[in-house]
Amino acid sequence: MVIAIDGPAGAGKSTVARGVARALGFTYLDSGAMYRSLALAALRAGAGLDDDETLGALAREVEIQLDHGRVELDGNDVSAAIREPEVSAASSRVSVHPQVRAAIVARQRELVARGEYVAEGRDIGTVVSPDAPLKVFLTASDAERARRRAADTGESIDVVRVAQAERDARDTGRELGALRPADDAIALDTTGLGIEEVIARVVALARERGIGRA
Ligand code: C5P
Repeated sequence: MVIAIDGPAGAGKSTVARGVARALGFTYLDSGAMYRSLALAALRAGAGLDDDETLGALAREVEIQLDHGRVELDGNDVSAAIREPEVSAASSRVSVHPQVRAAIVARQRELVARGEYVAEGRDIGTVVSPDAPLKVFLTASDAERARRRAADTGESIDVVRVAQAERDARDTGRELGALRPADDAIALDTTGLGIEEVIARVVALARERGIGRA
């Protein structure tokens, strides 16, 4: 069982998904962490970021473990390294490749088949879990998304805004698993809303559908 939370960079997906998972007693899945881990593996291996074959093989081989916010790549803690701006940019480049998407989507489907998840990403409601009983598409204004991410990373808002726009354009424009709301997704614009309010709204939507513990 999956609650799908998709949306562009900086829309608040991680915080919201984590909060909803906690409220419902579900497990949180950060699908982007897998693409980020692969991007880091590719950068470290000196692999070309446009090479579908090599990146696909790497995506099938690397070991990625997600455990309560800690991310391990081949046994090493990469939780901080995968958040570096260089890795963010590389993640949206490696994730356009069909072989990469096939490998990572397969891993994600395998994971969520074994439990109750709140999964966040770009293609959870459209590709990974199209049967999810609740799909939310989170958005926020460009300015707010950049402001939130800059507050997290310490970068300047303008630098973040440009990087996010580039990433969103690649994520929206790709052929497979493109960033878009599923036809049956509920759109939620979080501009000006507090994070607790957004979490409460999603939890209420879940309860309305009979999802989660009473
Ligand atoms: O969500 P996050 O910003 O960590 O994702 C990093 C990148 O990974 C995104 O820009 C996107 O290119 C890719 N991604 C994806 N599909 C997902 C999650 C993330 O392609 N479900």
